[in-house]
Amino acid sequence: MTDKSLQNFNISGFQKELIEWYQANKRNLPWRADQDPYKVWVSEVMLQQTKVDTVIPYFQRFISKYPTPYDLAYADEQDVLKTWEGLGYYSRARNLQNAVREIVSSYDGKVPDNPKQLGSLKGVGPYTKGAILSIAFNQPEPAVDGNVMRVLARVLKIDDDIAKSGTKKKFEQLAAAIVSHDDPSSFNQGVMELGALVCTPKEPMCMFCPVQDYCRAYQSGVEQELPVKSKTKKQKTVQYAALLIQNDNGDIVIEKRPENGLLANMWQFPMVPVDEIGKAHIEQWFRMEYGIDIILQVKKGNVSHVFSHLRWQLEVYEAYTTSLETADNRHRFVSSSELDHYPFPVPHQKMMKYLD
Ligand code: SF4
Repeated sequence: MTDKSLQNFNISGFQKELIEWYQANKRNLPWRADQDPYKVWVSEVMLQQTKVDTVIPYFQRFISKYPTPYDLAYADEQDVLKTWEGLGYYSRARNLQNAVREIVSSYDGKVPDNPKQLGSLKGVGPYTKGAILSIAFNQPEPAVDGNVMRVLARVLKIDDDIAKSGTKKKFEQLAAAIVSHDDPSSFNQGVMELGALVCTPKEPMCMFCPVQDYCRAYQSGVEQELPVKSKTKKQKTVQYAALLIQNDNGDIVIEKRPENGLLANMWQFPMVPVDEIGKAHIEQWFRMEYGIDIILQVKKGNVSHVFSHLRWQLEVYEAYTTSLETADNRHRFVSSSELDHYPFPVPHQKMMKYLD
């Protein structure tokens, strides 16, 4: 036992109620059709920061395109990013493909069931590792994300700040102590499902909760106050002029983002940091940076996009150039029908509506 939180807590009763409820009420989700570790892995990576309803069509498309680890390992990274387009957090897709390449080269294309080997793969953190080991391999490993922390904070009435990094360790230890050894797969999925359907962030539906009798927050009437989560810092806003530059052939300039960092290797329309250079210098700055002369034309609209730590405020302009080719490989002229072949992040997909 890790601390006093589990004193007098009826672990076996809680496990039994939760598992029975899960078996009777679980949603019919495509990744639950079998317990294939590769599919569980793909689904868990997609579900990070993303809602189930959004993930379902992406998952189906991804698995039909890359049904096995070999298909994903040998796929072109740009194709993988294109399939992931719109789901956000693209480093998840790149890490997944790198990790799958490693299991193809080191483990005959089989997802390892060994915690050490699995945990050392790129992008496989403690949560994903625990989810794969428990759901696909039925090993009694904890799988703790924000959703699970919320449920456990309420059931065990824990008021530690879940925004603090050290708190997660505590919840992982508690989850490891209460996970069912008979059916860890149903237990962990049960906690996740309870958090998604009943013990929701706002206004948990305690009246319909299968573990109400075990829930200390409910018994004390503090379920709405838990978990404690301090406010995260506000995102920084950065302004850009985003340019739809066309030449006399009707071709449009696009560019590939750097290999590392935000939206790595995705494609976008050129963005000029107007915060730094001022709007009056866009054409001049563009010539210096891109080696292309442009004439700025009308403003077409605004697009904003929020990342976890950053907000982009894009002012979208039309621009004209007499150039027919670009100075380097990072930039390309493409026809509007060819845009479809490149993976674009959401804010730049939104810009496409301004193309005539
Ligand atoms: Fe959540 Fe309410 Fe159930 Fe407690 S009783 S686990 S607060 S839904």
